Amino acid sequence: MCHFVRKSKGMIKSERTLKEVKQLDKFYTQQFCDRCHGSLKDGRTMSMFNEQCICMKCKEAETRREDYQKAVDADREEIKKRNWNFKGIGF
Ligand SMILES: [Zn+2]
Repeated sequence: MCHFVRKSKGMIKSERTLKEVKQLDKFYTQQFCDRCHGSLKDGRTMSMFNEQCICMKCKEAETRREDYQKAVDADREEIKKRNWNFKGIGF
């Protein structure tokens, strides 16, 4: 018999990135986007390029950048290397 127990409480939806692992308290309490200074009430996420807490609109704009995949790949690489100080490839 195989039992699959899900321990996470819905916090991690897909593949975990270093950004998600590192999210700081500030990240959860701040009210405005670091990039456009818009409200974060509709959701927040950490930039894949640096450690800014950004709104979903800014995130969407990020994912459309040509080097977005590069930023994601770099992030995953640093996780493998256990480099928790990696801040992203820069915005
Ligand atoms: Zn924004």
